[in-house]
Amino acid sequence: MSESKKSEWREKLFYQQKNGYDLIDAEESRLAFAYCEGYKQFLNASRTEREAVREAISIAESEGFVPYVPGMALKAGDRVYQSNRGKALMLAVIGEQPLSEGCVIAGAHVDCPRLDLKQVPMYEDTEMAFFKTHYYGGIKKYQWVAIPLELHGVVALKNGDLIDVVIGRDPDDPQFVITDLLPHLAADQMKKTLAEGITGEGLNILIGSMPYDDEGKDRVKLAILSLLYDDYGITEEDFLSAELVATPAFEARDIGLDRSLIGGYGHDDRVCAYAELRAILDVKTPKRTAVCILADKEEIGSEGVSGMKSRAFETFMEDLCDAQGVALRRCFENSFCISADVCNAFDPNFPEVSEKRNEAKVNYGMGICKYTGARGKSGTSDASAEIVAHLRRLFAENGVVWQLVELGKVDQGGGGTIAKFMAERNIDTIDAGVPVLSMHAPFEVVSKFDCWMTYKGVLAAYNE
Ligand code: MN
Ligand code: MN
Repeated sequence: MSESKKSEWREKLFYQQKNGYDLIDAEESRLAFAYCEGYKQFLNASRTEREAVREAISIAESEGFVPYVPGMALKAGDRVYQSNRGKALMLAVIGEQPLSEGCVIAGAHVDCPRLDLKQVPMYEDTEMAFFKTHYYGGIKKYQWVAIPLELHGVVALKNGDLIDVVIGRDPDDPQFVITDLLPHLAADQMKKTLAEGITGEGLNILIGSMPYDDEGKDRVKLAILSLLYDDYGITEEDFLSAELVATPAFEARDIGLDRSLIGGYGHDDRVCAYAELRAILDVKTPKRTAVCILADKEEIGSEGVSGMKSRAFETFMEDLCDAQGVALRRCFENSFCISADVCNAFDPNFPEVSEKRNEAKVNYGMGICKYTGARGKSGTSDASAEIVAHLRRLFAENGVVWQLVELGKVDQGGGGTIAKFMAERNIDTIDAGVPVLSMHAPFEVVSKFDCWMTYKGVLAAYNE
């Protein structure tokens, strides 16, 4: 066989992946970078699920979305949204076809790993004041000490008022920190495992040190409480009904001399949330109704009224179906869902946890996860071959660069997403999203190319 024939066969028979930048021109790379400017703004404005929902609503309203009111008449092209208690969001663009033909859903989550304040958080020790925390989501605790933190959330008062708290975002604001042990005295600490070196009960946030001008005990705590009372009118008891969280105080920034990457807090999963949001804003009148979900509580198992297990989703969808006289179960069984969530990007610093042929690579495009789970695929909905083929076709037709990926090598670990909760509703579902380096760290990294391709991928699905 001639050399040219052999290389022809290679081209034809091998599954060959290419770096995404070999597949797009300069103009598209410019578009990708421009898209990421909007994403960085969204990320900086969205430190909690509540802030992400608020930001998404404000963007959606500026693009013609209106709050959904049960019973309202809807026609093709109409754009509506419904907030679930301010912590999750559902948006829809009504399609030409009836809902009995199903809809195209993209679902991401807007909650991220963080440190929640306990309900009785404040104490003084050695004339310094602290907040006790209970971490939320899967974190490596040692990463959360000795970095600047911000405080976000709400305090719900007995009288029904809700007080918004954001401290540390404005450049003039103070920030917070959890202290770490100096290396000089860390000989014992350094012998511990990474899991034990910093403990959950050790994640105490330093919030002040200046005593109240008075005699008596807990003078620093008293001084801090008096500041909070002056600024917010709250007392220590009001923390009982508060949701306050500490998040890393890092701005989203370009990473690398070529600016091809973005570092920031909360890429998982606001990077997919933003992709979906932009995509549904760019949908005109789709064939099938387009639905965008920004869910809460994914990081703790999709629990609760604002998580993806909640029937708030059925309520919204059933309202839309009722208006057309369609049974919700018919709509679901004909629907298709992209569970838009991040995947792990292969990290050459830690090659031992991955199986290279099947791990996502930075700049190779949107990562499609046929299955997630752990220990023999436990806990995954495992999308069917037909669904993968559907995406192959769709993405090929729309210039979406993508890769088929899984999270880590077999028996190394694993994880889940909202996919299985969508699949349990009898909706064909597959995971797809942006590969991330340092996932769940206070400062995660994604590639601009992959962010752009994830947006294009969701848009292609909406515009099928
Ligand atoms: Mn996620
Ligand atoms: Mn996560």
